[in-house]
Amino acid sequence: MKEAQFYRKLKNKLVQCQLCPHFCAIKESMTGKCKVRKNINGVLYSLSYGKPVSINLDPITKKPLYHFLPQTLTFSIGMAGCNLSCQWCQNWEISQKTAEEFKTEEISPEKLVEEALKSGCPSVSYTYTEPFISYEYVFDLAKLAKKRGLKNILVTNGYVNEAPFEKIAPYIDAMNIDLKSFNEKTYEKFCGGKLKPVLETIKRAYKAGIHIELTTLLIPGLNDNEKELEKIAKFIASVGKKIPWHISRFFPMYKMLDKNATPVSSLEKAYKIGKKHLKYVYIGNV
Ligand code: SF4
Ligand code: SF4
Repeated sequence: MKEAQFYRKLKNKLVQCQLCPHFCAIKESMTGKCKVRKNINGVLYSLSYGKPVSINLDPITKKPLYHFLPQTLTFSIGMAGCNLSCQWCQNWEISQKTAEEFKTEEISPEKLVEEALKSGCPSVSYTYTEPFISYEYVFDLAKLAKKRGLKNILVTNGYVNEAPFEKIAPYIDAMNIDLKSFNEKTYEKFCGGKLKPVLETIKRAYKAGIHIELTTLLIPGLNDNEKELEKIAKFIASVGKKIPWHISRFFPMYKMLDKNATPVSSLEKAYKIGKKHLKYVYIGNV
């Protein structure tokens, strides 16, 4: 456990976390929405500090990043929890659980960076769940990894506030950010979040000079209509026409078992729409 950054103390041992746009007000002995930041006696702690629940060497294309360190493996780690609750989450077994549910050995940033160096990978990816909610650990790791010559990659839902983002940005080299939909209602109903902060993070990351690629999981009847795809493509182009856009195929998962896998024809339609506005569009998961 480590005391959290970005929170304020209120009356009667209540605290307010200011890390992400949920701004959770958290009572004593309770956690915020992400389940990994806990109020203990009026102090907010990160429960996932030093506790990765998954470590793998992955091809960088799996993040997906196609225009960053091509043909390399990336040392990938993920901690428990997420600040969104997407009904189709592929990693729900770790993203929708608290850090306390896993019996993991604590690994210091020094030890983990040593392991990353030993692996021979040129980069460390913070991935599988939402890295921003394990902010303190990711920050310490990213700072140290950068110092030791490794690149840092965030695979994120982009649901983070400006101040924490700006603080970590100098240590981050690349990001894959989910742009799940261009409809506020979809974000609210199916992910438990809002669209606008995600758009802000995308703009901020681009402005900060971080290499970014975006991913949209194309779900039948949810975000695959031409109007919405056109809006997404136009938005990305307004930030940068050379930002790669990954359109990924959906398969029934977690709580979204009532929909079929995305027809390949829908992915091709989305690809064509993307290519009207963007230089790099890719179909994934096919
Ligand atoms: S990071 Fe977690 S505790 Fe903090 S505001 Fe977001 S969901 Fe709430
Ligand atoms: S943001 Fe990603 S990890 Fe979090 S619930 Fe959604 S799909 Fe899962």
